[in-house]
Amino acid sequence: MMADAGDLSPDIRQNIGAVKARIDAAAQEAGRDPSHVSLVAISKTHGAARIAEAIDAGHALFGENRVQESETKWPDLKAAHPHVRLHLVGPLQSNKVKRAVQLFDAVETVDRPKLARALAREMAAQDRRLKCFIQINTGEEPQKAGILPAAADAFIDQCRDEFGLEVSGLMCIPPLHEEPGLHFGLLAEMARRNGLDQLSMGMSGDFETAIRFGATHVRVGTAIFGPRAPLTVGD
Ligand SMILES: *Cc1c(COP(=O)(O)O)cnc(C)c1O
Repeated sequence: MMADAGDLSPDIRQNIGAVKARIDAAAQEAGRDPSHVSLVAISKTHGAARIAEAIDAGHALFGENRVQESETKWPDLKAAHPHVRLHLVGPLQSNKVKRAVQLFDAVETVDRPKLARALAREMAAQDRRLKCFIQINTGEEPQKAGILPAAADAFIDQCRDEFGLEVSGLMCIPPLHEEPGLHFGLLAEMARRNGLDQLSMGMSGDFETAIRFGATHVRVGTAIFGPRAPLTVGD
């Protein structure tokens, strides 16, 4: 039998089905409506052919963490599949805001005034309205992006009142070696007191926990596309 690359590839259609079944089960167990949990398939490092497999399997919501990498794959994918939506889930530098607004449908990583102002301006200039999530550094990790919990309420107000940004919800990435539920609970409480109803939290290893705490968007990469190649400089 001839071996080809396809033999080594994960069965993406099957993986999406399995993750969705787990989402449904976790939502039902939590007494939540499974249709209130969106699966954001994180396709970073994976090529356009793999992503196209997921689209062909009926999936239409994706996430990437780098603007530059996304620009090598997504303009063509979006042109071929105009219904597909793309979230930016990695840090956004102010000098890439224009390109991000052109390509993405949501930015999940709004975390500082300079970026929020630039996004609001660029969306107005391009007449495009992206969904915005505020990223909270719930673990207060120095190396991690996100606004600190103590500054979050004031920043959310500033985004709305000063920059006129429509804030959809909050996003977090818990510290690697801590109980994620503590962070998901903190994020949910922060959203509640600020009148926000969308929560992007939970990845391959903890999305069921996140759903228990109210996640409306779970960001799942490895469980769909398989393991990623080792990180390169810049990631
Ligand atoms: C890579 C990434 C994910 C997906 O992680 P997996 O463990 O592969 O599911 C989720 N969120 C963000 C912000 C990421 O960068």
